[in-house]
Amino acid sequence: MQETPKGSRLHIAILGRRNAGKSSLINALTNQKVALVSDIPGTTTDPVYKAMEILPIGPVMIIDTAGIDDTGYLGTLRVQSTMKVLNKADLIIIVLEAESGMTQYEKTLIEGIKAKKTPVIGVINKSDKAVLSPALIAEWGKEFNIPLVSTSVKNGQGIDELKKLIVTYAPADWQGPPVVGDLIQPKDTVILVTPIDSAAPKGRLILPQVQTIRDILDHDGVAIVIKETELQQTLDNLRELPKLIVTDSQAFERVSAETPPGVMLTSFSILFARYKGDLEALVSGVKSIESLKPGDKILIAEACTHHQQADDIGTVKIPRWLQEKVGGSLEFEWSTGTHFPEDLTKYSLIVHCGACMLNRKEMLHRLSEVSAKAVPVVNYGILIAYIHGILQQALEPFPHAQTILNELK
Ligand code: SF4
Repeated sequence: MQETPKGSRLHIAILGRRNAGKSSLINALTNQKVALVSDIPGTTTDPVYKAMEILPIGPVMIIDTAGIDDTGYLGTLRVQSTMKVLNKADLIIIVLEAESGMTQYEKTLIEGIKAKKTPVIGVINKSDKAVLSPALIAEWGKEFNIPLVSTSVKNGQGIDELKKLIVTYAPADWQGPPVVGDLIQPKDTVILVTPIDSAAPKGRLILPQVQTIRDILDHDGVAIVIKETELQQTLDNLRELPKLIVTDSQAFERVSAETPPGVMLTSFSILFARYKGDLEALVSGVKSIESLKPGDKILIAEACTHHQQADDIGTVKIPRWLQEKVGGSLEFEWSTGTHFPEDLTKYSLIVHCGACMLNRKEMLHRLSEVSAKAVPVVNYGILIAYIHGILQQALEPFPHAQTILNELK
């Protein structure tokens, strides 16, 4: 894995009318020709993602969007996909043309974005074509309470200032808690159990495993990576017990049985429920499994479109376990990748994957949509541990979530 994963980058969306110069602004920001630029309005269709570094923030993902005033059938679809970007953007840059200035269009958009509590920076672009009075710019800034900067990609004016504003206005809490680093002390040993079965990708570990290893190293811990068949031997070889064992959810039962007293156990999926989203919210939904009945509709949401194996967790195992528990047939629907259904009220339960491909903002947005519709939601790790009767143990590193579990009726 050569690059910082997409889901671990600050997401910055660039919005504005067609031909406001969004794409050329990105090219100037990244110092590369990464976005398609032309004078024909509507050149950018689907959102375009570009990974770059902005110091001192580090890795960011710039999202170039279609003009929000696009028209016609295709234009409407483009606007819809542009607006979906708002659900994952940690920071939004609104680009307006100096010649046309701040119209009602931008004003409405800024108000809408601010209602979502996402920080906004205003860019008055193409300032080489029209010079706006500083008093007018200051008035807009005051009216909308947003920082504004004049830029020109022709002469480079304002680009450095814009980068500084990005650093200043990037939300401090966009990353959430560490994957595992706050659960260990320097030199603590963590055993990571990663089954290498037919579902494992050839020649590599999956993203949650890689990110957990990296986080342990970042926090000066010792990471030991093994298959589930080597756990007992590894424990026997250690002079001191590990602080924590993290397992793939699918090996939970076996690993739980071999975990010595005094050693905390959890799963990658539970770690990612906290890192990417809201562990407490995902635990809160788990008891609803008890009230499921045959015929209920369940949504299984996976945030990527990986190749499905014969005994796939999302399409085979989870449906089987739930139906065994309910004692009858359930109706399953699946959503994959960036698609997440708008009509959630028809589901009795939503089961989400670990969401390693989403950024935290998007996962939190999904959880807030689910919560607004009062639909119970869990993730894979929580569901699997619960069904196998070991969720209490798997939540030991997270006392608050454990309390919530104990208080659920
Ligand atoms: S299904 Fe979810 S957790 Fe699994 S790899 Fe895809 S995004 Fe990550």
